[in-house]
Amino acid sequence: MRNLSGILFNSIEYLKGVGPVRAKLLNDELGIKVYKDLLYHFPFRYVDRTGFYKIKDIAVEGLTVQLKLTIIEKQLVKGKNNRNRLEVLAKDDSGFINLIWFQGVKWMDSFIEVGSEYIVFGKVGFSYGKKSIVHPEIEIKNAENLARNTVLSPVYSATEKLNAKGLNSRNISRLTYNLLVKLKNETIEETLPGYILKKFKLISLKHALQQIHFPKDRKALENAKKRLKFEELFFMQLRLLYSKNQRKTKIKGYVFKTVGRYFNKFYSEKLPFELTNAQKRVIKEVRYDLRSGIQMNRLLQGDVGSGKTIVALMTILIAIDNGFQTCIMAPTEILAQQHYNSIENMIRGLGLNIAFLSGSVKGKKRKSILNVLESGDIDILIGTHALIEPWVKFKNLGLVIIDEQHRFGVKQRAKLWGKGIKYPPHVLVMTATPIPRTLAMTVFGDLDVSKIDELPPGRQEIKTYHLYDNKRLRLIKFMKEQIAMGRQVYVVYPLIEESEKLDLQNLQDGYERLLELFPRPQYQMSIVHGKMKPADKEYEMNRFKEGKTHILVGTTVIEVGVDVPNATVMVIENANRFGLSQLHQLRGRVGRGTGASYCFLMTDYKLSQEAKTRLKTMEMTNDGFEIANVDLKLRGPGDIDGLRQSGLLELRLANLTMDENILIAARRMCTEVLEEDPGLNLVKNSLLKKYVIQNKNLFKSWGRIS
Ligand code: ADP
Ligand code: MG
Repeated sequence: MRNLSGILFNSIEYLKGVGPVRAKLLNDELGIKVYKDLLYHFPFRYVDRTGFYKIKDIAVEGLTVQLKLTIIEKQLVKGKNNRNRLEVLAKDDSGFINLIWFQGVKWMDSFIEVGSEYIVFGKVGFSYGKKSIVHPEIEIKNAENLARNTVLSPVYSATEKLNAKGLNSRNISRLTYNLLVKLKNETIEETLPGYILKKFKLISLKHALQQIHFPKDRKALENAKKRLKFEELFFMQLRLLYSKNQRKTKIKGYVFKTVGRYFNKFYSEKLPFELTNAQKRVIKEVRYDLRSGIQMNRLLQGDVGSGKTIVALMTILIAIDNGFQTCIMAPTEILAQQHYNSIENMIRGLGLNIAFLSGSVKGKKRKSILNVLESGDIDILIGTHALIEPWVKFKNLGLVIIDEQHRFGVKQRAKLWGKGIKYPPHVLVMTATPIPRTLAMTVFGDLDVSKIDELPPGRQEIKTYHLYDNKRLRLIKFMKEQIAMGRQVYVVYPLIEESEKLDLQNLQDGYERLLELFPRPQYQMSIVHGKMKPADKEYEMNRFKEGKTHILVGTTVIEVGVDVPNATVMVIENANRFGLSQLHQLRGRVGRGTGASYCFLMTDYKLSQEAKTRLKTMEMTNDGFEIANVDLKLRGPGDIDGLRQSGLLELRLANLTMDENILIAARRMCTEVLEEDPGLNLVKNSLLKKYVIQNKNLFKSWGRIS
């Protein structure tokens, strides 16, 4: 959108009513430097400013009203901490009202003149029988100011500092109004090609910018919003998809020509089950990437338990067959350890070297791993974010697998790119939490996507129930029945840093209560939590895995990766404290074998509306995608991966949840444009080309991130 020439790039300082002091303030507080920035500082809501109230008609407190007032007297009053406030007495022909300022007192004092007439707008309070407005918007009553009063008057976000210098919403509106008057006979260059405007019936940019600030009516406002949201989302998609195209033509990757010894031996001798069709398809997609000569950047999506690990392993074997080293990075020590154990187990007998590295691997052992790694003798390195440290050096890293990607920062991932020698390594990102469509199109918008949309055969629908504490006895009975059938049970407690002590205490208490209810030696129990020594944790976990204990009590350390097909019951204590995707992950620990499986969400009676929605959603569906969509609606996209700071996802107007349809349309259009004209060289796309050229920096930074 940066058009570096033209009137829109005049400095804001020279706009009527601004000047150097306010210009600096606008820049510091709102980042407004030039005309265009002010035009793109959109109102966040609109109020009806057509009518005027009479003071005597204000019958109830809390009403927001507009008044025409004459100032009778004003007075600076010393308050606490030497902070002055300004008290003003004003009237209309029906009564009196007080206006009070605690902030921006000095400026307001110099602005308000006794005897003059003003338009005043604000929320009325009653105290001691007197009506008053604190911090009203106020402006001189003249023809121009009256002319801006419409059914939909804009309200702008301002800051305390701006208010203090008289740059409140109403004055920002005045500046914008002045600017639009000034631009009336100027051309504002279009950003979108004519054929796209026509196709989606979008109004011109100039018209939209006028109407978003001072809409003629609701319809006009809707049209302006639609146009500007489309523009915003379209250019976001252009950044993502154009970069992806570029990467695919420009960023070379290692060619993995052969599928050789290790892959074939594993496939024919070690594969513990028949692959699902979805797994086969994904492996094919990955193999195609790896042969293409272009660096792979692929996102592997698959619900909990869909079998991503085996896909990762087979990709790893292809890389090793071609003489390269590989690594897997996981977000937690436990998960990394799990990967290490299960993969080590699966490749046993193939003659490969596998190593584990995390912050807890220290001293001699660490040194030795780093040395061997650099000499090229480790084929598979599995670990935590310790892998991205600069002293972790590979001889020939060819493939990086990242599990649970959304927990890693953008910068961290970029660091792994740098560890390739000749080319960046191929990257396969696995995520167990299904990504809602809108996020897939934005945050992960420039990755290629593979989906495992089929669970291994024999999986059970997990029955989920939300229970209050009064059902606990029946739950205990049910657990005993399941254990009597030879099944195993998880009991999970929340643990968050802020209340760690209390949470651990809860876990301990719960554990002891269970010990009473499930007495030894008839029943055996394991306990795991993050504060235990890794060796103890592993010991307890293994006892459960081997079926030596009936119940595993723990914190969310068991959230990811644990795989005990014989476990059929998941009890989640204080379930209201977990997020939806976390609940879904936890539930995914059961239903992995052939036995019917159950998940119980325990809470007390005090529940927020949002918590109720979460629990209800869990009861209603097992579908990770549906759950992720509800989660997005409840929480918004959040600052996933810190992408917001990077400016790539910054949206002024559009909202990923509410404007999904516009997003889909914009993406589709963008895809079509780039399919027909990947280099944007056609005349009809010249505006888009111009955008790309003028925003090179944005495109470049994005390319490096993925
Ligand atoms: P996730 O996608 O959650 O990482 P895993 O890779 O841990 O899932 O696989 C979940 C379980 O399903 C594991 O026990 C794994 O051995 C098993 N599994 C994976 N693929 C298949 C398959 N095609 N047939 C049967 N079991 C499978
Ligand atoms: Mg997994």
